[in-house]
Amino acid sequence: MIKAVRGTRDLLPPDTDLWNQVEEKVRDVFARYNFHEIRTPVFEDTSLFARGVGEDTDIVTKEMFTWEDKGKAASEKSQSLTLRPENTAGVVRAYIEHGLDKKGTLQKLYYIGPQFRRERPQKGRYRQFYQIGAEIIGPPSAGSESPARDAEVLEMLATLLDEVGLRGWQLQLNSVGCTEDRARYNEALREALKPVVHQMCADCQRRAETNPLRVLDCKVPEDQPIIEKLPKMSQYLDEPCREHFSAVRSMLDAVGVPYTINERMVRGLDYYTRTTFEFTHGDLGAQSAVLGGGRYDGLSESLDGPKAPGIGFAIGEDRLILALQAEGVSSKEKLDAYIAPLGAGMNQHALKLARELRRAGVTADIGDETFRLKKSFEAAEKAGAKYIVIVGENEAASDEFAVKELATGKQEQVARAELVGYLRH
Ligand code: ATP
Ligand code: MG
Repeated sequence: MIKAVRGTRDLLPPDTDLWNQVEEKVRDVFARYNFHEIRTPVFEDTSLFARGVGEDTDIVTKEMFTWEDKGKAASEKSQSLTLRPENTAGVVRAYIEHGLDKKGTLQKLYYIGPQFRRERPQKGRYRQFYQIGAEIIGPPSAGSESPARDAEVLEMLATLLDEVGLRGWQLQLNSVGCTEDRARYNEALREALKPVVHQMCADCQRRAETNPLRVLDCKVPEDQPIIEKLPKMSQYLDEPCREHFSAVRSMLDAVGVPYTINERMVRGLDYYTRTTFEFTHGDLGAQSAVLGGGRYDGLSESLDGPKAPGIGFAIGEDRLILALQAEGVSSKEKLDAYIAPLGAGMNQHALKLARELRRAGVTADIGDETFRLKKSFEAAEKAGAKYIVIVGENEAASDEFAVKELATGKQEQVARAELVGYLRH
């Protein structure tokens, strides 16, 4: 038997109803904040991610699905291609490629789609997973650098999570400063790690050499007391970065979005500057981050684009759904009516009635004239219908139908003209 590939999975009903409900709500929220959808390709030139996400990030060194695509025609060059591990690099590539900076305004773009990383599969971590993300990017003259953008994005996320019905979320906030701040902080960490790193895990020993900031990410319990004593990022922020961060915090306080400062939160992608954040949820176990994001003021330029500061986030949709389900949220989809044709020749009458009801907005399923009444009732129960509508010879002739509410057993004769109102009340 052929099975779904390790780390991938099928999403089936009724789960997909919840996925769709979340996506509908999310699109509605994005529209109210004047975000518009962008759809970028699922695969891109490998160098986009190498340069965009960062050469020595986990994603680029270990997790990408990359292949050499040989040109078919002699004129076509072979090219290294990669399934997108994230979508910000693709959005910024599109921003540059289509000269969106020339519009002179802020681009507020959102996407929903699959991403691919070759990670160890476990709960909340898959090789094909789905992200719902958004970016605000534009020339500085359009306000792209303003801390107000950071606050707007964070306030929108709080609203979005509230509206999809998630309750137990926590916003973890940090500033990783600008490139120069991070270089100085990395240096300070390297120094501070020298005398202690030999007591730490193998990963930390490697990170202390290549990218000391990553040590803060370590989850090994024995390493934690050492990490707690390391210098803190906030001590290395320059004045403009410090002011930016303080403005973001004041605005969040003003609009009433609660947050926790977490100076150890270093995100897994190299492009972040200044504000970084995660929204976590207690019911997700080890994979507690429902979403992550931050500012990326230099990303466009590192991809040979114009100066285009920006800020964005990606929600892990798989984890958002897991968190919602852990809180007992399920889809509100329901079947109004099950139409049961009773006796030979009744299929066409049932189909005609179903057509009228469905076109009027009633959700209806339909049985078959070969079913006995008992089987129709069982099918209606299984389908989760609120009502069963019997279509027998008498009903078809009189245009009045026997309608039974399955939960209560209450049965009434309802005229054809009244049926839509009756089934939807
Ligand atoms: P993690 O802490 O889980 O490694 P990350 O820092 O690699 O996350 P980002 O690249 O910032 O994550 O992606 C944003 C969000 O996408 C994460 O917060 C998470 O919800 C989700 N996500 C990332 N990788 C996966 C995955 N392999 N499977 C499912 N969801 C994922
Ligand atoms: Mg990761």
